[in-house]
Amino acid sequence: MKTTKSRALFNAAKKIIPGGVNSPVRAFKSVGGDPLFIKKGKGVILEDVDGNYFVDYVLSWGPMILGHAHPSVLKAIIKAAKRGSSYGAPCHDETELARLIVQAVPSIEQVRLVNSGTEAVMSAIRLARAFTKRDSILKFEGCYHGHADHMLVKAGSGIATLGIPDTPGVPKAFARQTLTAPYNDIITTEKLIQKHAKDLAAIIVEPVAGNMGVVPPSDEFLPWLRMITKKYGILLIFDEVITGFRVHFGGAQARFKVMPDLTCLGKIIGGGLPIGAYGGRKDIMQMIAPAGPVYQAGTLSGNPVAVAAGIETLRQLKKPGVYKELERKSKAIAEGLGEAAKEARIPYYQTRVGAMLGGFFSGSPVTDFASAKKSDTTKYAIFFHGMLRNGVYVAPSQFEAMLLSTAHSDSKIKHTISAARKVFKML
Ligand SMILES: *Cc1c(COP(=O)(O)O)cnc(C)c1O
Repeated sequence: MKTTKSRALFNAAKKIIPGGVNSPVRAFKSVGGDPLFIKKGKGVILEDVDGNYFVDYVLSWGPMILGHAHPSVLKAIIKAAKRGSSYGAPCHDETELARLIVQAVPSIEQVRLVNSGTEAVMSAIRLARAFTKRDSILKFEGCYHGHADHMLVKAGSGIATLGIPDTPGVPKAFARQTLTAPYNDIITTEKLIQKHAKDLAAIIVEPVAGNMGVVPPSDEFLPWLRMITKKYGILLIFDEVITGFRVHFGGAQARFKVMPDLTCLGKIIGGGLPIGAYGGRKDIMQMIAPAGPVYQAGTLSGNPVAVAAGIETLRQLKKPGVYKELERKSKAIAEGLGEAAKEARIPYYQTRVGAMLGGFFSGSPVTDFASAKKSDTTKYAIFFHGMLRNGVYVAPSQFEAMLLSTAHSDSKIKHTISAARKVFKML
């Protein structure tokens, strides 16, 4: 595969952008090699600057559920941009997107638009702290909630210890306000809650973990979280930035029928443009300024072009049969990959919730971060580069999801499975 032009662009970028990329995972660090520079995306096909073509299963890490440059989304973007790209004053489409979100996501009564998932989480946590008048939060190991200080925290040694910074630059005092527990682990979580109940403002969770590979919740996990948080007056926050409008039109909460107090959204609701949102119970949301005292603001929040792309994306997704078809295709590709791994006798633990797929190079079940980390990342790197050579772009990390869009055709899926069959045999 020729990558001369990508390499030249990467070298030029590295001189003036730290690491040559504007978000770390794009740099291929965990699989080795240099990132490909993309020239164009259309439907499910990415074309790089050297003229290589790939079937895309990263989808910009989630937003492109209709595929790239979807004609009607493109039309909505152009139409909106012609009317000016930002006013700093309210416009009708903001209410329209809010209405679509409130209608779709069962627990959201009011919603505030922001510019990224990170911002949504950061704001929801401030709100939870203000509402409960408590300072601590609890998150789960391996769940990603954006890069705000109090979320870049890992577990200290032993479950009794409070969080420690996971990156330089996060004050220890901030990290100490964040407790971490293993995903799906009710016993450990309950112990932590009992010890810290009086100071816990919120528990935040990815209702389907999508940032340690795909790890579904056990049947009891989410209903139990709902029960225990209610019992102790702790707010339950679902971070649905990736699951929202992906595993179900109403998000994971509609799929699993568990209602959080607050929900964070992003990715799909912007149709590929920068956006985020947080929403929930009206009595809580009414605390946000200017309705209430909790400050949160944004120059470009509710941006008319992003909002137009989001509205059109949600309208397309609302059409009958869309999620049934996504489910059918996701099942087909999961089965195909599973059979291919079996044929090649490769240990490959598969997970899937709707159009979110996980494939861990591991012989044992993955239920949390510790078990996910048992995966053979060297095998994954070989798999990744092998798939690239065969025209398939999967995530450049074992610990990311494989995502499907409505634009993945049966023939592209077939191509992907036969590429995987070839690559698995090399492992
Ligand atoms: C992507 C993601 C975020 C962060 O969103 P950004 O728009 O990248 O800031 C937060 N939470 C989850 C679950 C995500 O998948």
